[in-house]
Formats: sequence, C-alpha cells, structure tokens
Amino acid sequence: MQDCRLWFFTLLVGLAGTLGAPAQETPAAPANHPIVLHAARLFDVDAGKIVAPGEVLVEGERIVAAGTSVDRPAGAELIDLGDTTLMPGLIDAHVHLFLHPGTAEDLQTVVESVPERTIQATLAAKADLMAGFTAERDMGTEGAGSADTAVRNAIDAGLIPGPRLRISGNAISILGGHEDAIGFNPAQHVLGNADYANDAEQLVETIREQHKEGSSFVKIYETGPDRMVPPGTAPCLGDPICEHLPLGPQPGDAEFWDFHTPYQYTVDELKTAIGEAARLGTNVGVHDQGEPGALFAAEAGVASIDHATQLSDATMQLMKEKHIPAVPTFTIFEYFADHAPSPAAAAREHAMLDYKIHEFKRQVAAGIPFAVGSDVGPFPHGTQAREFELMVQYGMTPLAVLEADYRNGANILMMGDKVGRLKPGYYADMIAVPGNPLEDIAAVERVSFVMKGGVVYRR
Ligand SMILES: [Zn+2]
Repeated sequence: MQDCRLWFFTLLVGLAGTLGAPAQETPAAPANHPIVLHAARLFDVDAGKIVAPGEVLVEGERIVAAGTSVDRPAGAELIDLGDTTLMPGLIDAHVHLFLHPGTAEDLQTVVESVPERTIQATLAAKADLMAGFTAERDMGTEGAGSADTAVRNAIDAGLIPGPRLRISGNAISILGGHEDAIGFNPAQHVLGNADYANDAEQLVETIREQHKEGSSFVKIYETGPDRMVPPGTAPCLGDPICEHLPLGPQPGDAEFWDFHTPYQYTVDELKTAIGEAARLGTNVGVHDQGEPGALFAAEAGVASIDHATQLSDATMQLMKEKHIPAVPTFTIFEYFADHAPSPAAAAREHAMLDYKIHEFKRQVAAGIPFAVGSDVGPFPHGTQAREFELMVQYGMTPLAVLEADYRNGANILMMGDKVGRLKPGYYADMIAVPGNPLEDIAAVERVSFVMKGGVVYRR
C-alpha cells in the first residue's frame, strides 16, 4: 500500500514536470485597455433609428460613449466591424437552458440526470450567447431544480460563456396541474417538472425555498393544459368563474372560443406570490395561455404574461394600464406545428398556431406592450432569433419588435438601467449584424460579432 502511494505520488510529480502546472482556465475578463468599435451603422434604441456611422467606446465592462463618433483615447484598440450595424445584445425573455431537442420535454426530467442536463445547459448558454443573446430570462429548469444557480454563477464568474441570466429554478405549479407528470403509471411516482404549491401559504414557502437555492425571480404556471375545442361548442366548458368574466367576445364567437385552458391560481393567490417576490426584491412571470387566467394575472400585476395566446379585451386594457408585456413565443408554436409526432397532432398544433396568429393581430391592434421571448429549448438553442422575424411577419414593424425587446425585455429582467441600450454606463453588451435590421429584421439571425461585458466572444 505504501509503495503504491509512493508510486502514485511519483507519477503526479512526473506529470507535473512534463506538462507544467495543472491546466486552469483563466476566467474571461475585459481588456485592460479601451476599445473603440466602429461600424457602418448603429441602432440608437432611444431615438428609434439607425445612425451612420456608428462608434462605441468601451472601458472595462462598460460603455463610456456611443454615437456617430467617439474619442479615441491613447492606447485604445480599434475594432473595425465594416459594413454592419452595431446594436445592443439581444434579449430573450423566455428560454429553457435545461431543455434540448430530441427528447420530449416531460421525459427529459425522467430519463436524464441533473448533472447530464446541467452539462447540456452550459452548451445551450454558449449557443445562445454566440447567436447574439447577451441577456436571458430562464423560465424554469423543468425538473432540474436549482441547478440553474450553478450555471448562472459560472457565467457570472467568467468560467463559461453565456448570457446574463435571470433564473427561477423550477417553475411553480399545482398538484395535478401543468407539467405534473400526468399520464404515467401512478405507482412509479414520476416527478413533475415543477415545484408544487397548492395555496397562498405554499406559494410563499416555495418561493422562499427557491430563493434560498439561488433563484432570481419567480415563474408560475397560471394555466394548462390547453385544449382546442370546436368553435362555439363549449364556451368556458362550464367553468363558473370564466362564465362571469367580462371577456369581450361572447360565447359562440368562433374567433375567440375555440381555445380553452383552465386557470391554476386565483387573483389573491397570485397577489400573495407577487408580494413575496417583491419582499425579496424581484418579480413574477407567468406561463399564461388564456382566459380566465390571463385576466387573473393582469389583475394581480405580474411582470409579464407569457405565451398570451388568448387575451380578452378586459385583460388587454389592464396590460396597457399597468404596462404588462405579452411574450408571444411564436417560435415554439411553429416548431411544434412543424415537428408533430402524428398527422392528428400536427392538425391540432397548426390550429393552435393559426388561432394564436389571429389573436396576436388583435393584440397588436389593441396596442398592448410586448417583449420578445422564444421558449427555446425544445428547439435548438442559438436559433431563436427567428422570434423577431415571426413577430414582424404576424403584424409588428421591425422597429416595434426591437423596441419591445430592448425596452420591455430589459425591464422584465429588471436590468433596464444596465442592458438594452448603447449608452454610457450600460454594460458593453453588443452585437453586429449585416445589413439594416429596420429594413430586414432577419439580419438579427446573422449575427457576426458578439461582445458581453467588454469581452469579445465572437468576431
Ligand atoms: Zn417555456
């Protein structure tokens, strides 16, 4: 035994002598000299226009100056980005770093270990950053609990590449509710993807537990599961609360009533959760596909209504008054419609997407605020800039989509004074894209340069 240990020690010393000191990755850090970025154009978010040319002066992790020209201090490094447009880094207000394509969402938590999923999440974070997303809100690890704390912390320490993250741990849901492993053999006690909370008291307890484990905001499932029902056949499906809501279009309106989703928490329960989140200095985002849950969420005062497939006139009025953005997540609906496992499922998913597009046009016409979130995870990370293109395709202008992303997205992430602008004092988080994104929004899908916190990640 003694000989064996001596042999091992000798081997280690020998290896150290051969290979030098043990490899230790140096954390990513900004340059210790100023950087001047120059490009043919720059998108000024506050002015809502492109200026030409565009220059940004970066010192450390922050922007010092931006405009058509900036001072060039002695010793500054010039990065000429040529015929591109400089823009703030993109914000995705709805991602799932812990989900990947190829395995059904609910099965990933069943067949994959949390360490395996955490490794996947680090790869997802890198893919998103390289695609130009420098800030994201991760809307739930879907069964990996607080493993997102480790990923967020490693990114913040510069140990691995990834966006700035707001994280929630698991989403919160009711027993037997959305994402609660329904349909498995009960004797197997298959774990759901969410943390349970069945009433106001349990919501507070769960939020405190998640906060203890490192979460930075709260994600709640307010609706689900969803059903498409034949037009006019089952308004509210007998739900007494739903039937007494001021929902705008009435039963029998084919355009409104062919979608149904039960609510999970009452207005008072949501208010309790929002109050507890506020006590902890943060906010609540909800998975919320439709009524009456959307009205409950708007009344309670959530930070955003995600998916927002069905919004009544009363809900939209409240969203405008309280400035609560909808996050449509078109890309995931398109992906599910195009990748359904059977013709029947494809028909259902396409009906859902068609319904959603129709309702989105009503929402745009009503003038509610939006943010950009893709729900990436079930489809490949790094491809989610398609969301910008779909929001334009279905009725918004490129400028409106970009403003929704940079203004409302940053506010939802509670980073409105740090990201989403090329302005002095903001983080040096920026991208360059070919062409003019106000003329062709698809430019954001062809990111050629990525800087985050003054560190160049892609060039
Ligand atoms: Zn989601």
